Amino acid sequence: MLVADSFTSAQTYAEQAIKIMGQRGIPSTPPNYTIWYDYVSGKNTDLKIAIDKIIEEDKPFTLETCNKLYQQFYLTDTAHGDHLQEAGVRIQDTLAQVIQQISQAGSDNASYGEKITSIAGDMAEEDNASSLQHFVQEIVRETAVITEKNKVLQSQLQKSSSEIDTLQANLEKVRTESLTDALTQIGNRKLFDTNLIKEAEKAEEEKTDLCLLLMDIDHFKKFNDTYGHRVGDEVLRVVARQLKSAVKGQDTPARYGGEEFTCILPNTSLHDATSLANQIREKIAKQVLRNKKTGQEFGRITLSIGVSKYVKGESLEGFIQRADEALYRAKDQGRNRVIQEIS
Ligand code: GH3
Ligand code: MG
Ligand code: MG
Repeated sequence: MLVADSFTSAQTYAEQAIKIMGQRGIPSTPPNYTIWYDYVSGKNTDLKIAIDKIIEEDKPFTLETCNKLYQQFYLTDTAHGDHLQEAGVRIQDTLAQVIQQISQAGSDNASYGEKITSIAGDMAEEDNASSLQHFVQEIVRETAVITEKNKVLQSQLQKSSSEIDTLQANLEKVRTESLTDALTQIGNRKLFDTNLIKEAEKAEEEKTDLCLLLMDIDHFKKFNDTYGHRVGDEVLRVVARQLKSAVKGQDTPARYGGEEFTCILPNTSLHDATSLANQIREKIAKQVLRNKKTGQEFGRITLSIGVSKYVKGESLEGFIQRADEALYRAKDQGRNRVIQEIS
């Protein structure tokens, strides 16, 4: 569900979604609501295509069909996916409450209008001053009732709106966590995969260079065996910090897995990417690693780095593989070095 929609458009989508579900006899459960909200907002293109196909083929939206759609487009196999789903459902519930409150207020206001019109009609036919006073009293009473109802509505809406703000903030937090590597606090493989797709599309559109670094700590197994896994973990954090501080905002530094790191470099030539890789390599190689408490030196570690440049139209696997092959050659040629792809 697209939680970034404005309050007004979210309300319109929500109303449309509920209407369609009603017309098609689809139970308005939170998953179905999510599907139809996204369908009417039109922003989930794949979902829209899938649903339009079902409509075109004149097939019914059975329980099974709805479940399948939800499985296909919303359920992920990660715990973060569950959290996201949960937060999404809570936002939907709150929105559904808001819609109900607004529609209730709409009918209350309409019936108030009808009452006043009818009183006004009766008044027009009355010329007795004391009866007129009775009509005015009735209007005052009806107005007091509707004013009170609207006051309650306003406070309910304010409460719902702040609930939605809190839920959105939670959702954002979960989303960020799902893209962050827990050990090093830089991007994880999922962020890398997501951003690589985005950046490749951008490079195609804007006809700019896009480069990739794949980095692997040299002889890290030996380091772990010598000093222990916890020291090894600390070293991974140091490398991540250095990597992050060496790159700019548009770049994506990430932990690729184990003791391997990567960095996506948009708007960067192969030459500049190689220079940056060398700066990172030198920075790491210079750093003396010590035990914070005892001051004991753990020595130094080095990085081998492979660099590749995106070729327009190629598969992302090919792009990554060329960096991987270059990294392999860096290892083969003695480690602690940067090697460019063979072009
Ligand atoms: P090479 O120079 O060829 O890359 O040698 P290497 O020892 O670095 O490579 P190898 O693939 O043989 O071993 C990688 C080691 O990285 C194995 C494991 O001990 C270590 N490692 C991977 N992930 C973690 C981690 O999360 N924490 C720690 N402490 N070590 C890790
Ligand atoms: Mg490795
Ligand atoms: Mg290694």
